[in-house]
Amino acid sequence: MPAENYREQASGKEVMWVQTKDQINECIQTYKRGVAYVDLDAVISNMDAMHSMLKKGTQMYAVIKTNGYGHGSLPIAKALESVPYVKGYAVATAEEALELRGDGIKKDILILSYTFPYSYQSLIKEDVRITVFRKDTLSELSAAAAAVGKNAIVHIAVDTGMGRIGVSPDKEGLDFVRHALDAPNIMVEGIFTHMAKADETDKTYANGQLEAFKSFISDISSKLGAVIPVSHISNSASILELPDTYLDAVRAGITMYGLAPSDEVDMSRINLKPVMSLFSHITYVKKVYPGQSISYGGLFTADKEMLVATVPLGYGDGYPRSLTGKGEVLVRGKRCPILGRICMDQFMIDVSAFPDMKEGETVTLLGFDGDEHISAEELGEKSGRFNYELVCLIGSRIPRVYTLHGAPVLALSST
Ligand SMILES: *Cc1c(COP(=O)(O)O)cnc(C)c1O
Repeated sequence: MPAENYREQASGKEVMWVQTKDQINECIQTYKRGVAYVDLDAVISNMDAMHSMLKKGTQMYAVIKTNGYGHGSLPIAKALESVPYVKGYAVATAEEALELRGDGIKKDILILSYTFPYSYQSLIKEDVRITVFRKDTLSELSAAAAAVGKNAIVHIAVDTGMGRIGVSPDKEGLDFVRHALDAPNIMVEGIFTHMAKADETDKTYANGQLEAFKSFISDISSKLGAVIPVSHISNSASILELPDTYLDAVRAGITMYGLAPSDEVDMSRINLKPVMSLFSHITYVKKVYPGQSISYGGLFTADKEMLVATVPLGYGDGYPRSLTGKGEVLVRGKRCPILGRICMDQFMIDVSAFPDMKEGETVTLLGFDGDEHISAEELGEKSGRFNYELVCLIGSRIPRVYTLHGAPVLALSST
């Protein structure tokens, strides 16, 4: 169902969507080609699990950049609007922020990267928090804020070792902070830094970043006499493994989606639930005889009689082509190998284990089928793609169906 329609039907409060069962079922039926289920109970449960590890009073930003790591930013934000410890949301672009506001999201929205000046006035009008670290941004924001007649709210980025954005935690950095505090029509609400190696077993570098950040904060207090209300540093890996980084708020990303920050992070310390599953349905079943080859380039040739099924999903949907010759899917609770190259919109699997296999049967590409499970980490490892990247890139042709209390509550088909 188009987003426009959804907007009219969203009730705007708590976790309520007024979409009928029939409408949702129609979407699921129409998109048997491929559908991603997003479990909103799991999102809330993952946030609760993280929140219970934090020190009292630490708030959380839910990181929902890149359309909520591919899961859909709006339904996730809607699900979290009424959760008290969620201070707000973090996104990467002005467009992501403004779309959420347009859809009725009321909590704080922070843009984590550099924001280009064309959007300043719209962002200020909507109270979107802008990350600053360049002096030209401060003067342009001041001017935009004066034009709008409202303060620009900013967070200062500090570079303590990521080498991406941010002022350095030294004299020059302090000078920038002073400028920001003095700039007309600018309200400095927050200050943050980002960890480069918190997901590694050896925390020496991460602790160094934390120390550099903390000493910069105390310099701001002792040398400038200022206290910036919200300081934050933790990403998912730090939430799990570095309690000293909790400060005023944390920024939860990948773990909110039930995924691991890296294979070095000890996931046994928390009960996280995977949020996204990806299903398709078999469109064709056929016998293949010895000597017959499958897909582009004939990389796979049958050496015995086989039963081969076609799955109508491919790399055009974000299912990695590099799973060619390596990937597996689940059918009837069993692993079935992918045969030959993955095409843009289709690929083939070996279903010889089921002589009565029929068209229309469900194929699980990501998630559970019976006792078997294919995780984003498994797909990431086999395809040479990072698990973050894998879910972000699940294509816009794949509709997302959202479940809450175990039942579908909303279906969104983007293209
Ligand atoms: C993406 C991002 C996060 C979230 O990272 P995770 O590893 O997914 O928790 C936090 N902070 C910043 C600045 C980011 O860019």
